[in-house]
Amino acid sequence: MFAERIDFSHEASLTIDELVKRVEVHLPESDLGALRRCYEFAERMHAGIKRSSGEPYIIHPLNVAGTLVKLKMDLDSIMAGLLHDTVEDCEVSPEEIAKMFGQNVAQIVVGCTKISKIKFKTKEESQAENFRKMVVAMAQDLRVIIVKLADRMHNMRTLQYMTKEKQQAKAQETLDIYVPLASRLGINSVKGDLEDLCLRYIHPDIYYRLAEKIAMKKRERESYIEETITLIEEKMLEYSVQGEVTGRPKHFYSIYKKMQQRGVDFEQIQDLLAFRVLINNITECYKVLGIIHSAFTPVPGRFKDYIAIPKVNNYQSLHTTVIGPKAERIEIQIRTFEMHEVAERGVAAHWKYKERNKSDAVNKLKWVEELMEFNQNVENSSEFMDVVKNDLDVGGVFIFTPQGDVKELRYGATPLDFAYAVHTEVGNKTVGAKVNGKMVPLKYRLKSGDTVEILTSKTQTPSKDWLKICKTSRAITKIRQHLMKVERDEHRVLGEDILEKALKKFDTSIKSIEKKQEFKIILEKYHYKTLEELFVNIGSNHLPIKEVLVALPSVNFTETDELDFKEDDKELESFYKKTQKTARKSTSNDNAVIVDGLDDVMVKMGRCCNPIPGDPITGIITRGRGITVHTLGCPRIVEIEKSRNVYVEWNKHYTFSHPVNIKVTTHDKPGILSKISKSINNAGINIRSAIARSMPDQKGNFIFEIEVKDYSELLKTISSIEQMEEVISVNRA
Ligand code: MN
Repeated sequence: MFAERIDFSHEASLTIDELVKRVEVHLPESDLGALRRCYEFAERMHAGIKRSSGEPYIIHPLNVAGTLVKLKMDLDSIMAGLLHDTVEDCEVSPEEIAKMFGQNVAQIVVGCTKISKIKFKTKEESQAENFRKMVVAMAQDLRVIIVKLADRMHNMRTLQYMTKEKQQAKAQETLDIYVPLASRLGINSVKGDLEDLCLRYIHPDIYYRLAEKIAMKKRERESYIEETITLIEEKMLEYSVQGEVTGRPKHFYSIYKKMQQRGVDFEQIQDLLAFRVLINNITECYKVLGIIHSAFTPVPGRFKDYIAIPKVNNYQSLHTTVIGPKAERIEIQIRTFEMHEVAERGVAAHWKYKERNKSDAVNKLKWVEELMEFNQNVENSSEFMDVVKNDLDVGGVFIFTPQGDVKELRYGATPLDFAYAVHTEVGNKTVGAKVNGKMVPLKYRLKSGDTVEILTSKTQTPSKDWLKICKTSRAITKIRQHLMKVERDEHRVLGEDILEKALKKFDTSIKSIEKKQEFKIILEKYHYKTLEELFVNIGSNHLPIKEVLVALPSVNFTETDELDFKEDDKELESFYKKTQKTARKSTSNDNAVIVDGLDDVMVKMGRCCNPIPGDPITGIITRGRGITVHTLGCPRIVEIEKSRNVYVEWNKHYTFSHPVNIKVTTHDKPGILSKISKSINNAGINIRSAIARSMPDQKGNFIFEIEVKDYSELLKTISSIEQMEEVISVNRA
């Protein structure tokens, strides 16, 4: 009855003959001679070595290979399983293995050896580095990680022979590194087993208490399971659906997790039993769901359709919880045999169907690619670790586009993550978001089922702050890429400018130096490929302008030459220069806006558009009156010449409040004004004034002048008012 769960128990009497027999069933066409040669080689290499259990060492590689057969992996993997410890423990060279058993097998063994050498330390920084290496090893050939998982499975099963300290450390490492990997690769059979083993060594008290409780009513429970299965089978027969019904207690770890999540004790956990119905096709899955829901009372909110919307690791199934025959909650999973294969074996299932085409299976795992891309963009490995850990967390939220398409994002994802999931350009241009038709702040946490509409603006660009908002590696990577490109562009323009002005001092120009081909000298000297690269290096201060001038034959540079060009510049040009050079470091000033690093500039907000922090803005130099800040969408700035524009940004350290008007239209109900006011005040927002008007059509119209810190606070206020039943619309006035 429990046959569908793969049994990974340690097999003390497993022999090569038995292994060959099993492989013959599962891979009938394969080269069994090679498999035997592998075994003989491994046995010779490990000869005389014993495991902590006292058994000959070879029993370990044999069991690892056995596990790979159970996962239905290909022959290369099984052979690598037999050989996986030879390079590390027996000083066999990878070349030897390649010569005897082929390049593929050697590569997997080398990958496993590399991972074994990673010393997982408690310090997060080094652990992150190791994890990074592991992902790199995995991306080269996913089979490496599957062999490694099989290795870890067997080691965890024979952990009782180790010291207590070793048990704890191994179990913790398994829970931190291997369980998330198994989960992300969709190998649920391995994940479930590993988790229970970890629980046993990390929280033995809880593990044995659970084991005891479940064993206590074993008889009773088994007959209950039997009864329920018969009941389901009869109902299915009634509707002439054929399938396989099984049932059993849930994994300890999942019960433990539930206890933790709900903060309750074992006695209060009700749904300890899980049933599974396996059938032939998808239509019948829904049919069976209907049958079960009519036979038992479903528990509201517990139905999940992972068939229509598969998990990111390709898991598909219907889940529901119902009140069983004895008023006990039971969980029922319904899926096809094929889906079950994928659920138990995850990526490993790919090798069964597409044996020769391993790159295809790898390609299916887009997240590995994304991780690799991210890997190249990050210096800090603990940051990388965070992102990896987050991405490995399979639990996600399903978000709908207004067109009804579905995206799965990880928990905690924000509208900004969603925007980047739709398209990089959408992400880059995001100015706001509506969730289920209402405005929300960009840092809003999305919930499953939310429909998200992204509002974009052509003039919007990503900012550093977005890195704090985003939770998915895709979004973070794209924002970083953008910021890097912008910085490079700025440096290029600045560098060209500095060089041009410097050359002017010596009565020449970039153009004329280029004509004489003198830049060649510098490009060669510093190994730059293009003139552009030279500009970037000047602009970013990596190459002092003096070095350039000295190297150019047309420039007669002497140490006494004055290199300060500022005085010659006109008013606007000096502005630019100062702004760029001071880098945006000054943040402690009293203005709401930083004018490209200048402290001592008078700044006013445009009355026409009344910008508040978070709005995309630009500054306009006013004759003699400092700078006026306008929103990028303000019609006034179109009238003003481009040359008077300066770059400005919001000062994050500025905490004054900004007045802004919002217009609220409501159904005219008594007390509505005070209700809205209360809601605004409760959010900690100050109301400066309120104007109320009753309209002839039974609608109320209010204009509130409120004080907000920034744009997102405004959005938050607006959305909290919108949520009121009586409110028809809320707009910025
Ligand atoms: Mn091993």
